Amino acid sequence: MASILSLLRRERLWTFHGGIHVPDEKALSNGRAVETMPLPKRLVIPLQQHIGATARPVVKVGERVLKGQLLAQAEGYVSACIHASSSGTLVAIEPRPVPHPSGLSALCAVIETDGEDTWAELPEPMTRYAQLDTSEIRERIRWAGVVGLGGASFPTSVKLNPGPDQRIRTLIINGAECEPYITCDDLLMRERAGDILAGARIMHHLLGDPRILIGIEDNKPEAFEAMRFALAETDMRGYTEIRSIPTLYPSGGEKQLIRILTGAEVPTHAIPARIGIVCQNVGSAAAVADAVLEGRPLISRIVTVTGRAIDEPRNLEVRIGTPVSDLIAHCGGYRERPRKLVCGGPMMGFEIAHPTIPVTKPANCVLALTEVEAPDPGPALACIRCGRCAEVCPAKLLPQQLYWHARAKDLDRVQDYNLFDCIECGCCAQVCPSHIPLVQYYRYAKNEVWAREEDKRKAELARMRHESKQARLERQERERKARLRQKKESLEAGPGKSQTDQDAKKAAIEAAKQRAAAKKAAAAKAEETDDA
Ligand code: SF4
Ligand code: SF4
Repeated sequence: MASILSLLRRERLWTFHGGIHVPDEKALSNGRAVETMPLPKRLVIPLQQHIGATARPVVKVGERVLKGQLLAQAEGYVSACIHASSSGTLVAIEPRPVPHPSGLSALCAVIETDGEDTWAELPEPMTRYAQLDTSEIRERIRWAGVVGLGGASFPTSVKLNPGPDQRIRTLIINGAECEPYITCDDLLMRERAGDILAGARIMHHLLGDPRILIGIEDNKPEAFEAMRFALAETDMRGYTEIRSIPTLYPSGGEKQLIRILTGAEVPTHAIPARIGIVCQNVGSAAAVADAVLEGRPLISRIVTVTGRAIDEPRNLEVRIGTPVSDLIAHCGGYRERPRKLVCGGPMMGFEIAHPTIPVTKPANCVLALTEVEAPDPGPALACIRCGRCAEVCPAKLLPQQLYWHARAKDLDRVQDYNLFDCIECGCCAQVCPSHIPLVQYYRYAKNEVWAREEDKRKAELARMRHESKQARLERQERERKARLRQKKESLEAGPGKSQTDQDAKKAAIEAAKQRAAAKKAAAAKAEETDDA
């Protein structure tokens, strides 16, 4: 009886607030094995593919580079290294269009590939990592440029270093992949389950041996079986559980998955480590295994190329820097003219401005949607205050209020309503009967707040510089005045002091003369006495 109860406790799942059921459309691309994309003629590798500071280039234009060679060094704590994804000549380091909702350009390293695909010398595998210092393993993961591959792109080495005050009790491996259409994690779990577990085991070691929970949505039965089979082959069973969770969007959101698997709520404005939990995507776990056990940096990833406008949707192993247009061509091109080309899924992705933009580490999907899949919603109507957006919001926000304040550009009020807890899942916009593009308002408001914060930071920096300059000038003036005062005082005091010295000298000479005369007189007297 007790064992049944403990089993039930172990298998227990919780629910999160809101969420929606959306047609998953996964069958379009999950029916065939992952294919490796041929080497492109030119790779355009952005130097910022992560949250945090842009990596600093360590190569020069004209240089021959090798596959896996470091192109740009991580700058600052929250940053990730960037490597060449094939060998060739570095022909430019310049701004190019990159996958970003802003559509703006960013600094990229451009490599003309030589077709030889020659590897650079790689660091030694750390097969006996358990005997090494944990900082050495983290440094390897940082060198390998591993970031969150579920789309968040937060540097993994930073997430695996919660600090000495933070006791991590649970490591969650996220295999939920809840966005419709995307199947790259599904295929990764089916084909590389052992590598995912190996990476999870390294993370488990780095985090101080927490339990491991692996969450997989129940619309991926093959992935679940593959992971379960691989786990049975390891000695990780004592501290690892794989749980099948109900398919409900966005169960793959970090806070939502934590809630489903543990029942815990991550406090607003806090990160999961605050409540003793670290969450990592399955792709990041496999990349950690590659870095530590093989000494290989992150230079490729699986990308789902799908949507009904694509002739042959599938998953491709793609080198970072490969143009999106090459992926589409490799999948047979367009079956029909797409209405929308998206980077990411239909809920959280963003429209691609240039089909020549390159694949980056967080780019999990290229989605070409037809007119039927993405019909024009028509003009947005007035909000009818129906409250449906609040019912489905997984972050328990008030999307309607957020919308009003974002629209009114009231940036203080919009933050009062916890704008930054919004995960931009799009549930609210999906159910809004007035077709209001709610997420666009939230993204706009977030950008405005960031811009305002940046302006404030710059103004504060300028104020501090001005104040420090003023303080320096005042100090210099005070010192100058003090020097003048001292000089004046010494000039005034100077002659008197020398007179005294001269008098003292005279007196000393006089005293010496008197002593000599007295001595002479005493000697003469003594002579007279002897004569007598
Ligand atoms: S769902 Fe749309 S119409 Fe209804 S309250 Fe929210 S924003 Fe307004
Ligand atoms: S986009 Fe933001 S506000 Fe809308 S449902 Fe998702 S978390 Fe809530």
